[in-house]
Amino acid sequence: MSATGVPDAPAPRAPRRTTISNPYLHRLQRRHFLLFDIAPIIGTVAAVGFLFVQPIGIVDVVLFVTMYLLTGLGITVGYHRLFTHRTFTAHPSVTTVLAVLGSMAGQGPVISWVALHRRHHECSDSDGDPHSPNLSGDGIRGALTGLAHSHFLWMRRHDYPNIVHYAPDLLKNRRLTRVARLYYWWVALGLLGPAVVAGLMYQSWTGAIAGLLWGGLVRMFVLEHVVWAINSFLHMFGTKPYRSRENSRNGGIFAVLTLGESWHNNHHAFPESASFGLDWYRLDPGYWVIAALAACGLVTDVRRPTPERMSAKRMSNRQGESA
Ligand SMILES: [Zn+2]
Ligand SMILES: [Zn+2]
Repeated sequence: MSATGVPDAPAPRAPRRTTISNPYLHRLQRRHFLLFDIAPIIGTVAAVGFLFVQPIGIVDVVLFVTMYLLTGLGITVGYHRLFTHRTFTAHPSVTTVLAVLGSMAGQGPVISWVALHRRHHECSDSDGDPHSPNLSGDGIRGALTGLAHSHFLWMRRHDYPNIVHYAPDLLKNRRLTRVARLYYWWVALGLLGPAVVAGLMYQSWTGAIAGLLWGGLVRMFVLEHVVWAINSFLHMFGTKPYRSRENSRNGGIFAVLTLGESWHNNHHAFPESASFGLDWYRLDPGYWVIAALAACGLVTDVRRPTPERMSAKRMSNRQGESA
């Protein structure tokens, strides 16, 4: 109330913070980095050493490939194309399965992952991008520092995107919040599941250890570096068929390995598209899965850019045309 008896105007609200930084969050980030980013490196080295105890068998190879596909699809189809960009609508059971499979990859709980990735699209290759390789200075030294930062090192400590700001839609989804709350259990399931299967198949403890290593830690290591390479190398090297404001690139040669994620310039140009390959002849296993789920009626409203929108954004230079 003012001295004249007239009620004061309400104080203007402070703008909502888009990122949060505090010692507790940074402790959690460091713990996650050690547990799920450093431990898989150690596990991979151990797996190579373990070859002297038990040579790699068909069970280990099948577990590695199966778990790679399941968790990789959880990331690209679930975390990325569905939860971050809403490129299609899924039946609730599909939503839950994709969120669980993505969690098993060990790349963070679904809501945090989505918030970080939405911030990446908002600030791509400019101030605020959590993992740009292009902001660390000029020359070879700047490029190498940028690559190391964007590939891996940024995860040790970073500003945390405010999930109320970046992911309010997901916070309203009780299924997803429940899956996110159980994140550490899902990662454990992704490690122990292959160990149990291999232990039963080989009928031995050494078999169980081989399953833990190849279906768990080595699989996690390989998928992590494949996904991180999109953030690092594909914001620096590759072809750029479409105009987009950041430095995203396509790396078509890695399309199968990345389950379609390596069409990264296509994705930045048309983030609303469920298809990253865009054209039928560009391999995009993630989109094939979405199309198969749509054929079964489990997925609807699959979004793709119109040919007019694609040609409006197409670069006119020859390098772009041939990409
Ligand atoms: Zn994206
Ligand atoms: Zn990007």
